[in-house]
Amino acid sequence: MIIGIPRETRDGETRVAATPETVKKLAASGKHSIVVEAGAGVASSIPDPDFQSVGAHIGMAAQALGADIVLKVRGPAGAELAQLKRGAMLVGLLNPFDASAVRSYADAGVSGFALEKLPRITRAQSMDVLSSQANIAGYKAVMMAGNTYGRFMPMLMTAAGTVKAARVLVLGVGVAGLQAIATAKRLGAVIEASDVRPSVKDQVESLGAKWVDVPYANDEERKIAEGVGGYARPMPLEWMARQSAIIAERCKNVDILITTALIPGRPAPKLIKAETVAAMKPSAVIVDLAIEQGGNVEGSELDKIVVKNGVKIVGFSNLPGRVAADASALYARNVLNFLALSLNAKTGEFAVPKDDEIIQATLLCENGQVVAKG
Ligand code: NAD
Repeated sequence: MIIGIPRETRDGETRVAATPETVKKLAASGKHSIVVEAGAGVASSIPDPDFQSVGAHIGMAAQALGADIVLKVRGPAGAELAQLKRGAMLVGLLNPFDASAVRSYADAGVSGFALEKLPRITRAQSMDVLSSQANIAGYKAVMMAGNTYGRFMPMLMTAAGTVKAARVLVLGVGVAGLQAIATAKRLGAVIEASDVRPSVKDQVESLGAKWVDVPYANDEERKIAEGVGGYARPMPLEWMARQSAIIAERCKNVDILITTALIPGRPAPKLIKAETVAAMKPSAVIVDLAIEQGGNVEGSELDKIVVKNGVKIVGFSNLPGRVAADASALYARNVLNFLALSLNAKTGEFAVPKDDEIIQATLLCENGQVVAKG
């Protein structure tokens, strides 16, 4: 088999789907040859010779995209699609909720596997790209907030007087939110956090942050809040209004607000109204991590820092891409672990186990047909 690693072409995408560490393992059996497009790793601090030194060939885009197995970060688009080989296996963040993108992979004749659709089961944890990348996003959100905030994060006692610790509020405490809390804690901030899912309270408190409770009015609200498969569901409007009022009150005293609330396949819930932003301290910073799904904050704009009454709202996309070397290292290991389902560790033979729950959950299309249930 030929395994291809194309250079990512989407604007601002600095990651790459394989690293010398994973290429070495893929090449180890001697049964597969690896073609890395020239320059594919450069934005992740991996020069071409590092790939060559572990057995990869450096080739053109057409060779990497035309391989039997194509490993990508973002789903191919435009001219890339025409270069895919019919019958090839395509693995990446294929955006399974974008019907026209999924159709385009089906039309290209590939078997497309969307890593966003990995089931949240123990066996799939080592492949979980959403977790590995969200962890990085949570860390980077705090770094960016600290960089944009005109004050210290920790409490300092100096000869020139005392500086108060920054008050940080994290909304949405999944993988990114937990890492944001842990990172802000290490920097000495005082942290509060909230989420729709009740199970998160203990995790927040174990990281030394204070839980902001948004009560449920009845059992039905509590049931919806528990979510499905580890993911949140849209909450009733009454609960959202209660949350909005409680959070608006907390926001008046907050220096840094980090929002990460997401619901798979839907626009991000709007948690922060324009009037809440208007009532925040003029030195406050907001980082809206949900910006690519429309944002949690009214007024946030994609890839911009918007200033409202002195409050800076940071809406940068692809924060993992701003920690490119480590984001690629973790992503590439996730991809390798996913491929290991189909690779015989002893012989190196490649055969996709069609009855495997992980394979079935991630398969979007094959033989020209869309097969994912959405
Ligand atoms: P996510 O990125 O889908 O969402 C981020 C957070 O936003 C979630 O905690 C969600 O509850 C919250 N949210 C959604 N709507 C909200 C609202 N209106 N108000 C406040 N918060 C809202 O979530 P994620 O980071 O993918 O993680 C979700 C959970 O799944 C976590 O508890 C994580 O630990 C768990 N997880 C489990 C596995 C596994 O078991 N294999 C793997 C990965 C993650």
